[in-house]
Amino acid sequence: MSGRAIVQNQFDRAADLINLEAYMRKILISPFREVQVEVPVRMDDGRIEVFTGYRIQHNGARGPCKGGIRYHPEADHDEVLGLATIMTWKTALMDIPFGGAKGGVTVDPKKLSKLELERLTRRFTQRIAIVLGPYRDIPAPDVNTNAQVMAWILDEYSSRQGYTPAVVTGKPVSLGGSLGREEATGRGVMYVMQEYARDFGIPLKGGRGGVVIQGFGNVGSHLARLLDSEAGAKVVAVSAVEGGVYNDQGLDIPALLAHVAQGKPVPEWKGGKRVTNEELWTIPCDWLIPAALGGVITKEANAKTIDCKVVVEGANEPTTPTADIILEERGIAVIPDFLANAGGVTVSYYEWAQNLQQYRWTHEQVNRELKATITKAYTSVRDLAKEKGVTFRTAAYGIALQRVADAERLRGN
Ligand code: GLU
Repeated sequence: MSGRAIVQNQFDRAADLINLEAYMRKILISPFREVQVEVPVRMDDGRIEVFTGYRIQHNGARGPCKGGIRYHPEADHDEVLGLATIMTWKTALMDIPFGGAKGGVTVDPKKLSKLELERLTRRFTQRIAIVLGPYRDIPAPDVNTNAQVMAWILDEYSSRQGYTPAVVTGKPVSLGGSLGREEATGRGVMYVMQEYARDFGIPLKGGRGGVVIQGFGNVGSHLARLLDSEAGAKVVAVSAVEGGVYNDQGLDIPALLAHVAQGKPVPEWKGGKRVTNEELWTIPCDWLIPAALGGVITKEANAKTIDCKVVVEGANEPTTPTADIILEERGIAVIPDFLANAGGVTVSYYEWAQNLQQYRWTHEQVNRELKATITKAYTSVRDLAKEKGVTFRTAAYGIALQRVADAERLRGN
């Protein structure tokens, strides 16, 4: 099922919950503006290769559109639209003053040199600059993009518009980025888990089942580090593209991070048993955290056999709707993506605010505000789920849809 279909399906359930009118459903599901561009890039050998890029602004009723840019061979129109839509619900649920957007270029960045990547980023920025701006649409990192890519976007945009740090978030700290932004998504996942652990009696500290993390990129690696060092949790398995490692006594996370920092693959680390990416889904645990790409928990592959108490969606759209229903029937709770992984965009909001104020926050202040914002959102989801007898996902959608619908009505729609 495509990203778009996944979102539509989940949307319908929540729209029914809050009795949303037909016309409002149409406004809320359809994108505000879609931009598709060709991105010709001069390669190192002199050839020109032409890539396709997208920037889709799903909704801007609550504020400027906001969302990351991903570089991936499978990034296409439907995927980017689905992800842009989720950003609208994510910013609404966090109650931060943004709408939702997403960008993508259909490219395998691992096949590009650093200079080719820079030229691609600059050309893509030139082509979408007309719809960007600190009060219009503000990109950020996503899959396969990082602070360096954001620095190029800042430079390219500013070279025409004048210095505009607030046009992009997730920048290097020395170029106006925020302290705590890089780890923010992982940190937010941990805060949500700590709340859930307390409310539902599945302890993180001293818990027996432990945590399994699929994906060791920006989200998974920071999350593993924080769960280990701050939450006192036992991380029993992690995986990356090449495979994973498992130790039921808990992995030595600082040692694993040091191994990966040397550029070595996760499965080659000797502190645990090597597991394949398929085997990872069968490991018994309390918490299972998909923290890489979408569509990895499916009816066919693993939804019937996953052996955990809670799935925490660190990635965007990791669970297909049919798998979601199977997990529900099996009594496995799911903490949905736009609650669990909202720490990134929440600290992006603080970065944007710091840029507009030309004032810097301390790391402690960023973490304190993040904890307050994401915990408040978590509590509202937990309470509505209990009151209506629905899943966390449906409750989260209900709250988000209501907020965006209210903003649309106040603007006259
Ligand atoms: N790409 C991240 C997300 O999916 C962050 C977006 C942002 O900071 O604007 O939430």
